[in-house]
Amino acid sequence: MSTAQAQLLLTELAGELGDAASGSPLPVDRVEAVGARLAESRFVGSEVLGRSVAVLGGYFGADASELLAAFTTGYLRAFRAWLLAEQESVRAAEIAARRATEAQLRDSEARLRAVFAQAGVGTGISDMSGRIIEVNAAFAHMLGYEPAEMCAMAVPELTHPDDPPEMWDLYASLIRGEHDNVQVEKAYSHRLGHAVWTNLNVSLIRDADGEPQYTLVLVEDISERRALRERLHYRAHHDQLTGLPNRSRFFDALSVAFADPSARVGLCYVDLDHFKSVNDTFGHAAGDELLVQAAARLSACASLPEHLVARMGGDEFVVLIPHPHNLGEVAGLARTVLDALARPFDIHGNHLTITASIGVIEDRGQHRTADELLQAADTTMYWAKAAGRDRYSVFDADRGRRENTKAELSAAMPASFTRGEFFLDYQPIVGLGDERLVAVEALVRWRHPELGVLPPGRFVDLAEDNGHIDALGALVLELACRDSKRWHDLFPAHTPTVSVNVSASEVADPTWLGRVQRMIAETGIPPDRLQLELTERTFMEAEGLPLQALRTLSETGVRIAIDDFGTGYSNLAYLGQLPLHVVKLAGPFVQRIRTPETVNRTDLLVLETIIGLTHALGLTVTAECVETAYQAERLRNLGCDTAQGWHFHRPMPAHRITDLLAEPAIDGSRRPR
Ligand code: C2E
Ligand code: MG
Ligand code: MG
Repeated sequence: MSTAQAQLLLTELAGELGDAASGSPLPVDRVEAVGARLAESRFVGSEVLGRSVAVLGGYFGADASELLAAFTTGYLRAFRAWLLAEQESVRAAEIAARRATEAQLRDSEARLRAVFAQAGVGTGISDMSGRIIEVNAAFAHMLGYEPAEMCAMAVPELTHPDDPPEMWDLYASLIRGEHDNVQVEKAYSHRLGHAVWTNLNVSLIRDADGEPQYTLVLVEDISERRALRERLHYRAHHDQLTGLPNRSRFFDALSVAFADPSARVGLCYVDLDHFKSVNDTFGHAAGDELLVQAAARLSACASLPEHLVARMGGDEFVVLIPHPHNLGEVAGLARTVLDALARPFDIHGNHLTITASIGVIEDRGQHRTADELLQAADTTMYWAKAAGRDRYSVFDADRGRRENTKAELSAAMPASFTRGEFFLDYQPIVGLGDERLVAVEALVRWRHPELGVLPPGRFVDLAEDNGHIDALGALVLELACRDSKRWHDLFPAHTPTVSVNVSASEVADPTWLGRVQRMIAETGIPPDRLQLELTERTFMEAEGLPLQALRTLSETGVRIAIDDFGTGYSNLAYLGQLPLHVVKLAGPFVQRIRTPETVNRTDLLVLETIIGLTHALGLTVTAECVETAYQAERLRNLGCDTAQGWHFHRPMPAHRITDLLAEPAIDGSRRPR
């Protein structure tokens, strides 16, 4: 009520009292009504009654006490009624509020219950003793039960054989309150027996004091997703054609086997022999069928569950034997595989036989990585192929190392040319009569930055294989011709012949002849001071153009020698047809007459025949590898012309040859030592 309204009301009530007070009999009722109206008009402050009585007391005069009583009575009655009404409305509001809260709570509980009951996600609550308090239909039906049936169970009854032990340790620590949430992939047993794979999320529910009260689980059925994942995994780890584990699965298994570095691992690397010809002859469908059948036979050979047969691609398979007792066990399996494949295959009505080559290796993870082991097994398989196929070879670390450095040497060769790592030593060749130095044989060496000086046996064949032999041969010829020219300039009267070894593939190169001729012309050496040594094998291979090249050189005066004669075909009849000047008797021949004890009549007879025939053909004979005075003596007696060997000189650098040539002749002969 505004001040103006209050004034209006009070003015009205004052007027009423004025009217009433002047009336008679005493207007008790009207005064009482004014009192009541004051209270009804919400003038209910603590001072209202007191002040009103004080003012009215003076106003009412003689009848004041009676009228005041009436006023007070009227005021208090109305005040009391207002108060009661006021209290009542507060209580009603309170009740309404409580009811609303209760209704809200009921609603929210019903909502929660509906969510719990109808949720697609399996949900359950259990207490700290493992008693299942509640599960929703989704959870129960996932496992083939009704919710009530599951509520009769306890959590430990939900164990599955695939549960890893850590899972239950984790659950225990959750119960102890050490975690608030655990998430795992877990299998449950369906009522019908099969496994239901789920994503399980367990949360700990604590009370207001933080004490664990319940566990809440949320389970999602991932069986299908898991099956798909497993299918994809299977496909990624198995060969489509044969169904065998593939390369990637094999490497997984190998790293598991290698997890303990001291554990031994065995491998059989199997490659079918001439598989390509099956494809070519019978078509790819037959080839595929053969692979499928061979794969099945291989699988049957793997007698133990831990053996793994994998297809590495094409016609290559591997059998992994984790922790074999010994190498024999691995080799035994290789034998079994060979036997299993030996039976003919029935491929679309054709009977096919096929063999295999197998590399066998047994090793520890400490020695080799998985890749290295496989590489070694593969290399060993090629040894089996090289040895004639249809067999197994066992890995030999020494041979492996040799072949390994061969590959490394081969790769290092191009750079070694530019770095000038190849150089020549010369071995003197002396006349057997007077031991005068008449010739030197150029012997190439490789000063390898890490391996030191390598003999030609380590890299000449390699250069033939990798195509660097032409460059090597050209370099050797150039170095030898330059040294020869220097000796010729220094010692024109007794310039030694320089004998250079030439390999078959050099001679076969159509540009070789031109190169040799150019080198002779450029260095200006007398052609008859150059000798080319070719092995018997080289001559046998040299037909047509190569032989023509040798003839051309021979005609210009270049001397041609057959090297290591006697190690190959020793075809004496053939000698006459070659453009030859010298026959070099191979070391093994000479070695047989090393001492009086080792010599026998036949050896001497053979030597005598060769020397005699060679002479008859107008050729000279040089003996190699003369290591003893006895050999020198014998050879001299047999009529051998010249010789080289440690008995006279070891191979040496060019400047030492220069020193030897400079030594004064003793008794008219040069006897350099
Ligand atoms: P080769 O032509 O028969 O050379 C003789 C080999 O016998 C040399 O070995 C020499 O050091 C060794 N020798 C010399 N005297 C004795 C001895 O009294 N006892 C024994 N046990 N051995 C002796 P090297 O230098 O290791 O050469 C080996 C082979 O490498 C040579 O055999 C030759 O076929 C080839 N070769 C060397 N240099 C070249 C080259 O420049 N080009 C080509 N294509 N091949 C070369
Ligand atoms: Mg030689
Ligand atoms: Mg030789």
